[in-house]
Amino acid sequence: MANETVQAIQPPWYRLPAATAVLPKAPPEKLNQHAKKKPAVIVIGAGLAGCHTAYELAQRNIPVLLLEAGEQVATGASGSDTGIVKPFVTRAPTQTNPFYQAAFEHLLHQLNRNGRLSHAAQFNQCGVLQLVEKTYPEHSSYLNCTAQHASSIAGTNVNSNAIFFERAGWLNPASLCRELTSHPLIEFRSHCEVTRIQSTTEGWCVQLQPKTKALTHEAKQPDDRYSNTAQQTGHLELRCTTLILANGHNMASFEQTNALPITPARGQTSQYSLVNSHRLKTVVSGKRYAIPLDDKLTVGASFARGNTRTELTELDHAENHSALKSLLPDLTPEQTPSQGFCAIRATTPDRLPLVGPVPDFSYYSQAYALLKNGLPESRFSAARYQQGLYVIGGFGSRGIVSAPYCAKLLVDHLCEFKPTSADNLEDLSSWSSLLHPARFTIRALRKSSS
Ligand SMILES: Cc1cc2nc3c(=O)[nH]c(=O)nc-3n(C[C@H](O)[C@H](O)[C@H](O)COP(=O)(O)OP(=O)(O)OC[C@H]3O[C@@H](n4cnc5c(N)ncnc54)[C@H](O)[C@@H]3O)c2cc1C
Repeated sequence: MANETVQAIQPPWYRLPAATAVLPKAPPEKLNQHAKKKPAVIVIGAGLAGCHTAYELAQRNIPVLLLEAGEQVATGASGSDTGIVKPFVTRAPTQTNPFYQAAFEHLLHQLNRNGRLSHAAQFNQCGVLQLVEKTYPEHSSYLNCTAQHASSIAGTNVNSNAIFFERAGWLNPASLCRELTSHPLIEFRSHCEVTRIQSTTEGWCVQLQPKTKALTHEAKQPDDRYSNTAQQTGHLELRCTTLILANGHNMASFEQTNALPITPARGQTSQYSLVNSHRLKTVVSGKRYAIPLDDKLTVGASFARGNTRTELTELDHAENHSALKSLLPDLTPEQTPSQGFCAIRATTPDRLPLVGPVPDFSYYSQAYALLKNGLPESRFSAARYQQGLYVIGGFGSRGIVSAPYCAKLLVDHLCEFKPTSADNLEDLSSWSSLLHPARFTIRALRKSSS
């Protein structure tokens, strides 16, 4: 579908605004000089979402300042050294399937096109077997397998039918994040926890936690590239015209975004050495998953909604161990894991991400209050947004595949890029009903009673 057509059929509450800020572009020959000037775009959070977004902007010659609370990139959910790369599919056809398929194709294309990224990501296209109870509808992206066929692909006994994604595999998210942020137009600052954001006449003001290393450094050496103002309060302020929040499970912690339904969910993986010479040849994914790493396996992941504790627990290791025994009964892992990883996912009620401009929530509540009465779309006025403020997050357990595509969609939108027949035709607007940050507000208004 052509871009114009897609925009035209969106209901008013999902209609996207024109890109609000004029993004300065650096001519390629002046990349380094331009990178030293004041960037108009700040991205908060250097996980997969923030790093891919910063990279997409930088690829279009737009300088970016990437702020991270932690001491390096990928200190949150993206800090793992292994994660599955595969499209998410359901047996019954839904709109979600083509979205994840497009996201998967985008990631493969990006990794195939860019050897440095693919090398840094340690992308291993060993295939993924997803265990299923019933046969799935035929599809070009996977193959239905009996348990016997699945076992021969896995190289070990699998007690279930499966669908096999031959082009899928695993990658190293933390290492990918590091490579993405090595672009010369991305200025990365660690130890920068953003505590408050504020709309200004010119855009956005970002307030950093006082007494961070970055503040101490800045206060001693004022740097006018970012219009910094060390306030009497000790807070450091940075200004930009476009502000993108990619701060994982903290995305709804600001006053402007607290209507977004983000719920944290703790997850833990465990890495085991294998005792005998029996090896796994592909990723196997059921209720939990196993990723083959030479003579080791990464097994994961636990899922505890509402839990934000990040220390490794014996209980989660034990659950992973017993899940591995039922997933792949012939493998013999050591009893004790050699290492583990634990972090907090950002989940949403429909398990799909939130990507796009941040709605003016109070306007939505008033302008669309009569949705519950079933009035025709033509009776409602166009959506309003908090100008220059965007979110990309809520990736739950699927961010490795979906974050790169969502970053591309968001940056295409910011740059007013229109897909042509030569490109993948989907744009941010095409996926509004799945990704729009106001979709839960709209669903709640539809259900509300007067
Ligand atoms: C154990 C586990 C296993 C997983 N396995 C898979 C898998 O196999 N396949 C898959 O697709 N996905 C998997 N996921 C999910 C995937 O890792 C996430 O969806 C993805 O990493 C989310 O990226 P993000 O950038 O949105 O969030 P994060 O990686 O959490 O990044 C957010 C960043 O923002 C920073 N931040 C937060 N608040 C602030 C602030 N106020 N100021 C500045 N910085 C801030 C944080 O420090 C963090 O670095 C797994 C997740 C976990 C926890």
